[in-house]
Amino acid sequence: MVFKLFKSGDELYDEGKELIKRGEYAKARDYLQKSIDKEGGDDDSAAVKVALIDLKDRMGSADAYRNLLEKLKLLSTPDFEFGITRIDRDDLMTECDLTIKLIEAKAISGGSDQLKKKSELLQTLAQEFQSKKGDKHMIVMELFRNNTSVTGNTEFFKLMAMSYECLSAAVVWDNPAQAAEYEQIAMGYHQQCGESGDDNLARSKDYSTTCTCWICGRIATGAGIHFFSAPADISPALDDNPDKAVKSMDPSGAHIYICRACYTAVSNRADDIAKGYHDVAMREMRAMEARLQAEIAALQSQITFARMSR
Ligand SMILES: [Zn+2]
Repeated sequence: MVFKLFKSGDELYDEGKELIKRGEYAKARDYLQKSIDKEGGDDDSAAVKVALIDLKDRMGSADAYRNLLEKLKLLSTPDFEFGITRIDRDDLMTECDLTIKLIEAKAISGGSDQLKKKSELLQTLAQEFQSKKGDKHMIVMELFRNNTSVTGNTEFFKLMAMSYECLSAAVVWDNPAQAAEYEQIAMGYHQQCGESGDDNLARSKDYSTTCTCWICGRIATGAGIHFFSAPADISPALDDNPDKAVKSMDPSGAHIYICRACYTAVSNRADDIAKGYHDVAMREMRAMEARLQAEIAALQSQITFARMSR
């Protein structure tokens, strides 16, 4: 019997394929890479599999998708096998292209103008997911998350929701009532893909809530943005007039409403006072430390002197 020490590129490739079926991706990658090295790297199907395995733990990385897309472009067959799944090359290429754009759009952050730009991009992408992917599910989610519920259509609703959330964040500073409307629209999209949209509802309520500032009496709209609720000891004599249309305390009677200007003025002043106390305490601690150090040094020299004169 001849013991075979070296395996051919094809054998390594076949073993890699088997390992994928068993879900042993790290080992499979090893075999597939060796087969690519042996065959001079022209086995494009092995390269696609390696790129897919590399994507498994980097599903948030545009570069990982870009790498896979490059390898798919070189693939000569219209489909290929990955474990027990047969994958359509063009479908996966579309998915890579859309996902790269999505990861890049999601990374946009900044002020109002940036958020509006992000919202526009997300809407365009939402439509692309719907028209190019439609009711087909996301292949990568199926392979590595065992999830076939994410389709082009569910992505459409999710991205439309995200787009309106961006618009809401972009305008809430200047126009909380408009932001509340955008949150309502976002909630509708979330609900169309089976999500609750509760966060949107909560924000929409907050943004459309109006109060009278307990301190200055101004009217402010937009809880958490333009006014805040602060715990306070409200005695019955100070209770809001029941006929007052715009309240200055919350229904529990344990919090008062304070507009942003009053709130920040009070908290900035409180911070200054606290910092003043902190600085005084630190100065006194340092002085005490210096006094103690001097006393320790004096004691040490007395000990040395006592030993020498013994
Ligand atoms: Zn105020």
